[in-house]
Amino acid sequence: MTIDAHPELPEFDYLRPATLMEASQFLAQHSGEARPLLGGTDIFVRMRDGLWHDKYLVDVKHLDGSDALVFDPQEGLTLGAAVNMNRVIASAEVQQHYQLLAEACRSVASYQLRTRATVVGNICNASPAGDTIGACLALKGVLTVHGLGGFRQVPLATFFLGPGKTILEAGDIVTAIHFPRPPHGATGTYLKLGRNKLSDLSIVGVTVYGYPDASAASGYRFCIALASVAPVPLLVPSAAEHLASKPTTPKTFKQAAHLAQEACSPIDDVRGGARYRKAMVRNLTEKALGITWERLGQV
Ligand SMILES: Cc1cc2nc3c(=O)[nH]c(=O)nc-3n(C[C@H](O)[C@H](O)[C@H](O)COP(=O)(O)OP(=O)(O)OC[C@H]3O[C@@H](n4cnc5c(N)ncnc54)[C@H](O)[C@@H]3O)c2cc1C
Repeated sequence: MTIDAHPELPEFDYLRPATLMEASQFLAQHSGEARPLLGGTDIFVRMRDGLWHDKYLVDVKHLDGSDALVFDPQEGLTLGAAVNMNRVIASAEVQQHYQLLAEACRSVASYQLRTRATVVGNICNASPAGDTIGACLALKGVLTVHGLGGFRQVPLATFFLGPGKTILEAGDIVTAIHFPRPPHGATGTYLKLGRNKLSDLSIVGVTVYGYPDASAASGYRFCIALASVAPVPLLVPSAAEHLASKPTTPKTFKQAAHLAQEACSPIDDVRGGARYRKAMVRNLTEKALGITWERLGQV
């Protein structure tokens, strides 16, 4: 018996609506058999593998500012949905003010893939393993969503419901993600543990983001986000509170890493066992806190 591990891409219709409203209406009318298309790096793999059976792919890359990457010193950064990861990495403004986002994008697969893959597609795919999502959460990303009722803003922290599940409704299209200007002195680290250095999803991904803040007892605030260890990309408020309230020492980092380990609920799968993942969350969180602390210029 031969097993065809890569069946052919099934037939589908490609649509390129002229306006966002036309796109939203079509998607709503064909709910369950149509989906928005950006870079297609998730879509085509799943259709080819027989996991998705959409009749229509609705290209939204050209619609209403989706191609724009705009930085405003007061307002912050807006990434249009169609901006691919290589453009994010290459942006001088992202490198200067949102270095964590560039670092997270750089961890995704290969240069070739990042020429197609978008940050918004990574988010909308809603995989708990999405490498850019932790940075987007730490940077307090807010999505602009266009639906049948027009535009609305959705904080990323409220977006994920489960693996592959989001709050998006039929007809909804994410047009952009916006990041406020980061606090002065902010920096961060993304550590990804994969089975190889190239082109693999994470076994565990740890994002740490920190900045000086006189209103915190410790003088600093940190945010920790975890990938691949829960049904959704996971923020760890218990660790953040601990780090804000205790003196910033190696012992505090160890305790925060322990809290991150306690907060996650990984599964066993082909990439790693649950126990291993939990142990790696602890180790990588402690390491990422140390690197972030160095980057904060304190060591
Ligand atoms: C070889 C390979 C290696 C990979 N390695 C990694 C990796 O290391 N790390 C990682 O995180 N990911 C990886 N991926 C996954 C993938 O590249 C990312 O998830 C990518 O960022 C998705 O973006 P896209 O623009 O290609 O989205 P698409 O494939 O176009 O869309 C993804 C999903 O989002 C929906 N969607 C798209 N646009 C919108 C919109 N505007 N509004 C609402 N919903 C929308 C689509 O309908 C679909 O469900 C890899 C993929 C491949 C093929």
